[in-house]
Amino acid sequence: MRTVNAIAATSATAPLVRTTVERRDPGPRDVLIEIRYAGICHSDIHTVRGEWGEVAYPLTVGHEIVGHVVEVGAEVTKHKIGDRVGVGCMVNSCRECENCRAGLEQYCTGGNVGTYASVDRDGTITQGGYSTHVVVDEDFVLRVPENIPIEAVAPLLCAGITTYSPLAHWNAGPGKKVAVIGMGGLGHMAVKIAAAMGAEVTVLSQTLSKKDDGLAFGAENYYATSDPATFEALANTFDLIINTVSAQTDINAYLRLLRLDGTLVSVGAPPEPLPVRAFVLFGARRSFAGSSIGGIAETQEMLDFCAEKGIAPEIELIDADAVNEAYERVVASDVRYRFVIDIDSLR
Ligand SMILES: [Zn+2]
Ligand SMILES: [Zn+2]
Repeated sequence: MRTVNAIAATSATAPLVRTTVERRDPGPRDVLIEIRYAGICHSDIHTVRGEWGEVAYPLTVGHEIVGHVVEVGAEVTKHKIGDRVGVGCMVNSCRECENCRAGLEQYCTGGNVGTYASVDRDGTITQGGYSTHVVVDEDFVLRVPENIPIEAVAPLLCAGITTYSPLAHWNAGPGKKVAVIGMGGLGHMAVKIAAAMGAEVTVLSQTLSKKDDGLAFGAENYYATSDPATFEALANTFDLIINTVSAQTDINAYLRLLRLDGTLVSVGAPPEPLPVRAFVLFGARRSFAGSSIGGIAETQEMLDFCAEKGIAPEIELIDADAVNEAYERVVASDVRYRFVIDIDSLR
């Protein structure tokens, strides 16, 4: 075991504090990673505040992790010392169920092992990336192409793959009209990725305050959802809508913007059920769907795609001591577009 520096929540209401966490000695198929940067995902905040259920404290969160390999187990073949690598939202799965065997570990029927707040294979609770080091099975470690700026890589491991996977699955590409609801951490990545795939991208945001950014990220159109005229102008328009908003919305108003056989995919998760009107689905054979992160192979594909297309998240780099302030700003939607913690400030 080794004891490494970290930031942890000690209760649902107390600010995060500097502390240490234990990391297991790398097993034969484990990789020890020296973490360089960790992204702040809204899920981290929901989790530490107990908003998604009870968790055990102290808890270190963080599932957007990038760093370098500093030690490998004897049987590791996929990574070597010095490699630039990433870890996303999962660190293990059953590997035997139908979905795992299909490379869709995020849908493991036995439940995958989350990067934090999950029960690990040794019975301990997993601790995430707001720390200087992490030990992960080589199969759940991604190769990070050198031409993506390292400080900007981390958000690809959650925000990037969460939007890439549904865009790829529902065939965003040339000739397809894709709308993105919300221009936050997830939304801005959805815009960049969908545009790079060749789709015609429209942003549907509360206001026009981020319009210049949206167009710069590759959107062709940008509409304010606070204006009722938007919903009349865009009725029956889109092949695919990616909903990144986790607040309660009038989902039927958005479903009506789908053309025949269009699909609205939710990747944001409001705590309350959404009342979907079946008649709105009937009207144009529309589908309402959900999607969760991506498998390991697809996450690798996403990293390689972003490297090839020159896409990276927009980030605000912060030191470890600024995490509590950053949380308040994330909750207030006051970040363009993802906070990333410089883990050197924890050493
Ligand atoms: Zn996340
Ligand atoms: Zn499985």
